[in-house]
Amino acid sequence: MTLAPKILVADDDQALSRTLSWILKENGYEVLTVPGGEHLFEHLTTDQFDLLLLDIMMPKVDGLQLLQRVKSDPRFKDLPVLMISSMPPEEATVRSLGLGAADFIPKPFRVRELLARVKAHLRVGRELNQARAEARSRSEMMDIMQEVTASLKPEEIYQILVRRVAHGLNLSRCSIITAGPEQGSGTVMAAFENPMLHNLSVDLRRYPEICRALESGEVVLVRDVLTDPLYQEVRAEWEAAGRPVPTRSAIAIRFALRQQPAGVFFLRTTTDDAPLNEQDVRFAEQVITAAVAALEKAYDLENAVIGQEQMRHLAETDPLTSCFNRRALMDKLEQEMDRAARYATMLTGMMIDIDNFKQINDTYGHLVGDKVLKQLSSLLKREQRSVDIVARYGGEEFVVLLPETTSAESRNFAERILRRVATHDFGEAGHPVRVTISIGIASYPDEQVTDGESLLRLADNHLYRAKTDGRNRFRD
Ligand code: GH3
Ligand code: MG
Ligand code: MG
Repeated sequence: MTLAPKILVADDDQALSRTLSWILKENGYEVLTVPGGEHLFEHLTTDQFDLLLLDIMMPKVDGLQLLQRVKSDPRFKDLPVLMISSMPPEEATVRSLGLGAADFIPKPFRVRELLARVKAHLRVGRELNQARAEARSRSEMMDIMQEVTASLKPEEIYQILVRRVAHGLNLSRCSIITAGPEQGSGTVMAAFENPMLHNLSVDLRRYPEICRALESGEVVLVRDVLTDPLYQEVRAEWEAAGRPVPTRSAIAIRFALRQQPAGVFFLRTTTDDAPLNEQDVRFAEQVITAAVAALEKAYDLENAVIGQEQMRHLAETDPLTSCFNRRALMDKLEQEMDRAARYATMLTGMMIDIDNFKQINDTYGHLVGDKVLKQLSSLLKREQRSVDIVARYGGEEFVVLLPETTSAESRNFAERILRRVATHDFGEAGHPVRVTISIGIASYPDEQVTDGESLLRLADNHLYRAKTDGRNRFRD
């Protein structure tokens, strides 16, 4: 006999908790509810749960903070957490997934959908294909979103989405198709299987899952093209033409831009790949939902009459800190490397990483964390010379490029910012937060440095040493 899976529900809404608990019990699960998330940790430690349903907005505790605490505890690292909330799905999804939630369920929820997700996630731990699990992980998601939001061109975003999702899920085919211009026709905006292809008209009658998704707005998952009724007609055509069936399974997800149905995200596997399943649906859905904001922004920009200069500025800056973003950094780094090589001057790169930043987020919350990032970037910008470049490299990592700087000068610079940071009051007025950073320095020329990338890699190695040597220091 197998034991019923055990679910812990933490929600402050008593009526909802009761309903949830009833539905779950009706469906064979064992359920414990903790109102308002109080004593959550006691229950988690004294009892063994298979899944946690957690409300994001509760009066006494912040669900996202609880999530973060749960996920940073090695004992519960693998416990699937489903977040429930009435927050705007995009923002909440990205944030919850970034913090390690397995999934996100918007309120009000549909019972069938809730049960399907609960079931899917309970299964995850048992039978998941390792490679796909890795791909669907939150860091992959954050990474994709970082690439997507750095782009301002719709075509580019489409390309990124099909490439990243195809790689992540190990698919040979992944495309984005918009409806029209004529009834029954579609336009391929991007296809992983053929990166050169775009704006190609296709006859949608050959793609019953796309038609279904476009018409109904439902997510369509065809596990097996050979048996699914949806494919009956198309199968007959294939047979009549004596063509081998190219596809094994498919997912079609409709997405909307500015509330208007815009197109379909279309994933397929061929006979050699593992067939697609609900996990893949969830991942693809999350990616496309989160990408919608970036796409809308990109289309707005395309339509707006804005100057070249403004456009370039938007494309180059990180929205949170207004520093250069990673892409702009990589461009500038190559330029500076060229220049240094041509004029035989020195170029120094510094990789800066906030110490124990996770703890800052955990202690003061994500919003204060964001504020610290902004404040650190201002501080770095204040310290730079006009020719230096300050960029946000990733989450809590910054890169400063110092052209024409000797090692002695860059060490002085590093010493100075270490001191400034350590003595600065970060955070809100009246509630200072202590912050320290670690720095890795690398300079060109150096025998290990041949291009921009190797310069950063060396700086990163030195940063690692600064961390292991105790933090709040630089290494070069
Ligand atoms: P270490 O001293 O070894 O660098 O420890 P750390 O905690 O800083 O390093 P770790 O890489 O474990 O954690 C980085 C944290 O930064 C985790 C992530 O949630 C947080 N983070 C990344 N991007 C952002 C962001 O944009 N805003 C906020 N608030 N936090 C972020
Ligand atoms: Mg880091
Ligand atoms: Mg850090």
